[in-house]
Amino acid sequence: MATATRSKAARGGIDLGGTKIQAVVVDGRNRVLGESRTATPTSGGPKDVADAMCDALLASAASAGIQAKDLRGVGVGSPGSADEETGVVASARNLPGWEGAYPLGARLTEALGTPVRIGNDVQVATDAEFSLGAGRDYKSVLGVFWGTGVGGGIILNGKPWLGRGSAGEIGHVVVKRGGRRCPCGRKGCMEAYAGRKAMEDRARKLVEKGEETQLFEIMEHRGDDRLKSGIWERALRHGDKMAEDLLDEAVKAIGTGVASCLNVLDVEAMILGGGLGLRFGEPFLKRIEKQAMKNLFTSDEDPPDFRMASLGDLGGAIGAALLVKNLKSG
Ligand SMILES: [Zn+2]
Repeated sequence: MATATRSKAARGGIDLGGTKIQAVVVDGRNRVLGESRTATPTSGGPKDVADAMCDALLASAASAGIQAKDLRGVGVGSPGSADEETGVVASARNLPGWEGAYPLGARLTEALGTPVRIGNDVQVATDAEFSLGAGRDYKSVLGVFWGTGVGGGIILNGKPWLGRGSAGEIGHVVVKRGGRRCPCGRKGCMEAYAGRKAMEDRARKLVEKGEETQLFEIMEHRGDDRLKSGIWERALRHGDKMAEDLLDEAVKAIGTGVASCLNVLDVEAMILGGGLGLRFGEPFLKRIEKQAMKNLFTSDEDPPDFRMASLGDLGGAIGAALLVKNLKSG
């Protein structure tokens, strides 16, 4: 009886990232009952990614002692262009073979046996920080998620601002006209300097040119095939010059782009999350703030607060589970 009541209120959340898939099961008060994570497939296509998402959700439900079909529903925070109405995800370029459109919501609903709702990954993470985390004390915030790419989420006067569906693309704010080529194909975007994937591509290019770094040795030593945040951290600790330089560029790009966005939005706080953001934490937040102050119009009298995301690694998945609250019951 107790289990039945608990699972009736329980919801699932999946944060689909370019590097990892994080799943959680939460209770009616958003407390985590179970969680599981798996690496995002680097090859194949949308179906392989959807299968990995199912596995992660099933594992998190199992660790919560609940069957997936008994959940009220599952929310998904997805990269790319996520249509909340249809559950179709298109142009998720950081995922393998996902240039086109794929009916992720329908596929997961069928596989999990419970309603699935799809939202934008960064927006749901921002919503989670706003409702439950570092943004609780504010009415308007800008969430900045520094990871494989750099994403942004906006809350204005207590409500998410989605624009026509593509708002918050802070990674593609131009920080250098005619600058480095971004994974989006344009030039000089913040993400071209700060996205984990773009930084890795840059490091590979510099190595081809004969520059030295321990980044790839650390990667191989760990049995990884990409430069995850922990590898950058270790290289920094070893005083690796290339890692220092690339991260310095990233900080400058984020600070500059964030300042421009804050000048337009004038929100009360900027909240930093994402794989790299959480990994490097307060010291890097301070560096980003210092950089932003150079271009911030309100730097002298009343600058906004700069805060670390407080829900940690699970924030995106908890935020995804919040999507289910809006599901019609029955
Ligand atoms: Zn771009």
